[in-house]
Amino acid sequence: MNKAEDSEGSAGYYRRMQSAVEELLVLRGILTPEGIEEQVAAMDSRTYKSGAKVVARAWVDAAYKARLLDDPRTAVAELGFSVGPMHLIVIENTPTVHNVVVCTLCSCYPRMLLGVPPHWYKSREYRSRVVREPRAVLAEFGCELPTGIDIRVHDSTADMRYMVLPLRPAGTAGLGEAALAELVTRDCLVGVGLAACPTSSG
Ligand code: FE
Repeated sequence: MNKAEDSEGSAGYYRRMQSAVEELLVLRGILTPEGIEEQVAAMDSRTYKSGAKVVARAWVDAAYKARLLDDPRTAVAELGFSVGPMHLIVIENTPTVHNVVVCTLCSCYPRMLLGVPPHWYKSREYRSRVVREPRAVLAEFGCELPTGIDIRVHDSTADMRYMVLPLRPAGTAGLGEAALAELVTRDCLVGVGLAACPTSSG
């Protein structure tokens, strides 16, 4: 992989290939244009806010958190989210362990709960560096961790996706579930950020 492969020429090739395959599937009656549009719209409508709701529930309900860590598929289904055929693993940050997710091979990502991955997640730089020097990469995201915290990097695959359960920020004892969900960013679900209480931190 190099930058040239990400250039307009390569994108043009894949767009033409996509159009050709789409046309063939429609011509053969396997898919309809409406069906394709519906699927694309459904995919675009998914965002990390789903993952944030799951995290907020785990923060307020210890029994739910235990179920989420034990059997993520069933636990997220309790909140109305389906992860489809993929195997989802939820990894919990603790005061001494911080988790971060990557797909070193390509861009595997729990889209059902987090939506479309950000551009940097798919970049070669992130995929190669976060496994070698996670602390430095996290610092570049503004996530500076004390040296006493152990950083664990989890490599996703086509059928195994990870979501981080971040630490509940201090100073949030009075907040309800919906307000807590607002504190959960996409970055902290991937592990390149920390959930923060707006009154105690920027
Ligand atoms: Fe991948």
